[in-house]
Amino acid sequence: MPELPEVETIKNELLPHIIGRRVTGVTLFWEGIVHQPSVEEFCSRLIGQRLTGLARRGKYFIFSLTSGEVLIIHLRMTGSLLIGQDSSEPPKYTRAIIHLDKDLNIFFRDPRKFGVMRLVENADSIVDKLGPEPLEAGFTPQVLSQLLEKRSAPIKALLCDQTVIAGIGNMYADEALFAARIHPLRQGGSLSSAEIERLHRTIQQVLWSAIDNKGASVDTYFRPDGTTGTAHFQFQVAHRLGGELCPVCGTPIERITVRNRGTYFCPKCQPQGV
Ligand SMILES: [Zn+2]
Repeated sequence: MPELPEVETIKNELLPHIIGRRVTGVTLFWEGIVHQPSVEEFCSRLIGQRLTGLARRGKYFIFSLTSGEVLIIHLRMTGSLLIGQDSSEPPKYTRAIIHLDKDLNIFFRDPRKFGVMRLVENADSIVDKLGPEPLEAGFTPQVLSQLLEKRSAPIKALLCDQTVIAGIGNMYADEALFAARIHPLRQGGSLSSAEIERLHRTIQQVLWSAIDNKGASVDTYFRPDGTTGTAHFQFQVAHRLGGELCPVCGTPIERITVRNRGTYFCPKCQPQGV
């Protein structure tokens, strides 16, 4: 599932292509991808507008339009946004095409059909509930401490909760907890201030490193030009299946389920109850 580094990479790489382009048409191969407003209204309100900006908040893309409305896209499990020429054949599993002038297309590819598009007057109606951005200056160890205070949920679940912190998902939560030597089942409120400082640092390190490596292509993530990212080659524990050894101590990496999420950790480097 694309997380903050993947969405940030797509945003950065899409931006120079699409800024100032006018939407000339919308093709929907899967109408269920449009959640708001009706399909007819979505198309008629979008066509003719220029794309004036593209931002990321959490795992959402926010496309600004000349009307002041915004197009909000969430890739969910398996979505990608690919850029291509209008004359090119849509990639397999393309569910929607946003046609732009200058012979450009944005292909919304989504094998499992969980992706979502919304056209709304104000992005706040969608992203208001999100927690802070972990790479912004305002996200300090003190802020992380306040977010975790008195929380009894496992730290892994809290890191993946978009209303606590925006943008982190399964892969980068596992990586940040491993680097901070914190067991994924520790209660959020039980972390010491030293552990919170470590976790704050490792969250930022794993996210920046993944952005530098253009995202992790463990599953179905592609960059807009169709190439893959390389961040998964840096992973220490995430998605290390079947008896792989901890790169630090050589202990077999374990997989447990935390709130329905497959979770990878080293039982020696991340002891429970410490
Ligand atoms: Zn270890």
